[in-house]
Amino acid sequence: MAYDTDNIFARILRGEIPCNRVYEDDWALAFHDIRPQAPVHVLVIPKGPYVTLEDFTTQATTEEIAGFWRAVGTVARDLGLSADGYRFLANNGRHAHQEVMHLHVHLFGGCDLGGMIKRGLV
Ligand code: 5GP
Repeated sequence: MAYDTDNIFARILRGEIPCNRVYEDDWALAFHDIRPQAPVHVLVIPKGPYVTLEDFTTQATTEEIAGFWRAVGTVARDLGLSADGYRFLANNGRHAHQEVMHLHVHLFGGCDLGGMIKRGLV
């Protein structure tokens, strides 16, 4: 899928739409999800124009990939999630119900998050 430069996260990156920012560096921006599903629910997005993990891991530079994943870890640590644990999750494509077509990692924490995935799939 081609990258849509008008997707909501692209517009947040350009500063056209506000966000509740928690972290930013050369490779990533992190901000609170507008519809939180846990006491802590933060999104971490790479700064480059990637729709999926496939796009990111085939087209991004090694520096971008390392910088992004380092930022995910930094944000989790800065949010104080490490001691009790947390979940990082990325919806990728149709089966995962990816809603925003700019790669993003959800960070969930602040409570017991329960089981990993909907039961009864297999
Ligand atoms: P997905 O299903 O694509 O993994 O999740 C997209 C996430 O982006 C959802 O959790 C949704 O609440 C969040 N989201 C969508 N639009 C906005 C927005 O304008 N601002 C923020 N902060 N989050 C958004």
